[in-house]
Amino acid sequence: MRVAVVGAGVTGLVVAHRLSEAGHACDVYERWPGLGGQAATLDVGDGVLLERYYHHLFTSDRHIVALYEELEMPEELEWRASSMAMFSEGRSYPFTTPLDLLRFKPLSPVSRVRMGAAAVMLQRRHRKVEPFESLTARAWVERSMGRQAYEKVWGPLLRGKFGDRADDISMAWLWSKLTLRRQIKGDEAKQELLGYPRGSWEPLYARLRRTIEDAGGRVLLDRPAARIGWDGDAFQLTPGAPDSFRRGLDPRAFEAAGEPERYDGVVATVPSDVFDALLEDDLAGRVGSAYLERVRGAEYQTALCLLLELDRRFSPFYWTNIADRALPFVGLIEQTNFVEPEHYGGRRFLYVANYLARGQPLLEVGVDELLDVYEPGLQRVNAEFSRDWIRNAWLFKEPAAQPIVTVGYRERIPPLDTGVPGLVLANTTQIYPEDRGTNYSVRLGGEAAKALTASMAALKAVR
Ligand SMILES: Cc1cc2nc3c(=O)[nH]c(=O)nc-3n(C[C@H](O)[C@H](O)[C@H](O)COP(=O)(O)OP(=O)(O)OC[C@H]3O[C@@H](n4cnc5c(N)ncnc54)[C@H](O)[C@@H]3O)c2cc1C
Repeated sequence: MRVAVVGAGVTGLVVAHRLSEAGHACDVYERWPGLGGQAATLDVGDGVLLERYYHHLFTSDRHIVALYEELEMPEELEWRASSMAMFSEGRSYPFTTPLDLLRFKPLSPVSRVRMGAAAVMLQRRHRKVEPFESLTARAWVERSMGRQAYEKVWGPLLRGKFGDRADDISMAWLWSKLTLRRQIKGDEAKQELLGYPRGSWEPLYARLRRTIEDAGGRVLLDRPAARIGWDGDAFQLTPGAPDSFRRGLDPRAFEAAGEPERYDGVVATVPSDVFDALLEDDLAGRVGSAYLERVRGAEYQTALCLLLELDRRFSPFYWTNIADRALPFVGLIEQTNFVEPEHYGGRRFLYVANYLARGQPLLEVGVDELLDVYEPGLQRVNAEFSRDWIRNAWLFKEPAAQPIVTVGYRERIPPLDTGVPGLVLANTTQIYPEDRGTNYSVRLGGEAAKALTASMAALKAVR
């Protein structure tokens, strides 16, 4: 079977790898001139690779760990001590261990104990998500941890990530964060370990690419899909011209380059709105309005990420959550407090993280203007910070960064199988109840390959 995989992020590469293993030749079409999608790297100079968006793994991320093992590169993964902080009421509080919570002054002593006890109860007693699917995170936090915990901790964090939609976020989303990632018991209670691949995420992509190409497939960079149609016998994928990525994400803005290619199957791993825009009318008609309604119902927050190279350390922490909405960003991730500067030739890197609703004016500004907005906030966290510390800056925007998971989300997820034999959709909106992440993209990639094979087998049986 000849298969087109659209998107060379983690999901797309894993789908193509799994299908290649099963003996199918896959062409992977990627709009960007590099591999990895949201987890892509950039060369920050001198061949030093760093993710455009901060990335780490949790000890519970077993699917990606298993993939590293399967590809005979387990030594790539290193587990490093993490240090977390919460910036609230004008200062950064360490926020890694239960003891840190007990010392977190913005909450009253009673609220600290109540919040910790509720988190532990959730981890110990509630291993299933179903009871939380019809509740908002706000309702659960206020009831179980108290109003103060919502006002001082969870409310600011949810507003930071989801903006105006914070109060609509499902408790299922928070349940997954609180129960699946880290167990507040044993050694992990004292010290959180996070994973990071020794040579960035890039060697994983290179290895996956090799397995796909060794099986007769192609990985086509800077070659997006511009349209997908159906000629009555096969799918027709029209590639877009090189440099199309400069025109944004909407494939309708891409110029066609060359003749359409024919495929028995297509797995699209692009965001839901891109998938919708890729389908020619006939094929969209076959997919049907019920399925497309679910696809069109997907909502995302955009990530706006400023990566700064600094001439010195900014803070003592790897990860600082900003629980103060007066600051115009939501997180500070100091990569070189996680992976030593020596790894980067002595250089130091800080990500300033933000999530915004599409259309927000801040998404339109350049680095200098953004720094004008961020500088007072950075100085609130570290009063000595000055723009002279900045050696380099890069700005990245990801429109489909975070699916907005509201109450009743499960019922609205489009299945992987679109209902058209041979056409599969696999993207971050279908990862549930866990929050999206590379680990779950590895799982999704495997599931998508199975969904495609099953749908083709069903078609063969009726022909
Ligand atoms: C700010 C941020 C921080 C994150 N931190 C972490 C973390 O710490 N740990 C973690 O595990 N995960 C993290 N994630 C999440 C993780 O990166 C994603 O969940 C995962 O990479 C998604 O993979 P994917 O392949 O499903 O989608 P994507 O990576 O979005 O891949 C889709 C691909 O499709 C391509 N594409 C789009 N249109 C077309 C077209 N027309 N034709 C061809 N190709 C097209 C895109 O360029 C992209 O490469 C983070 C994400 C963000 C945004």
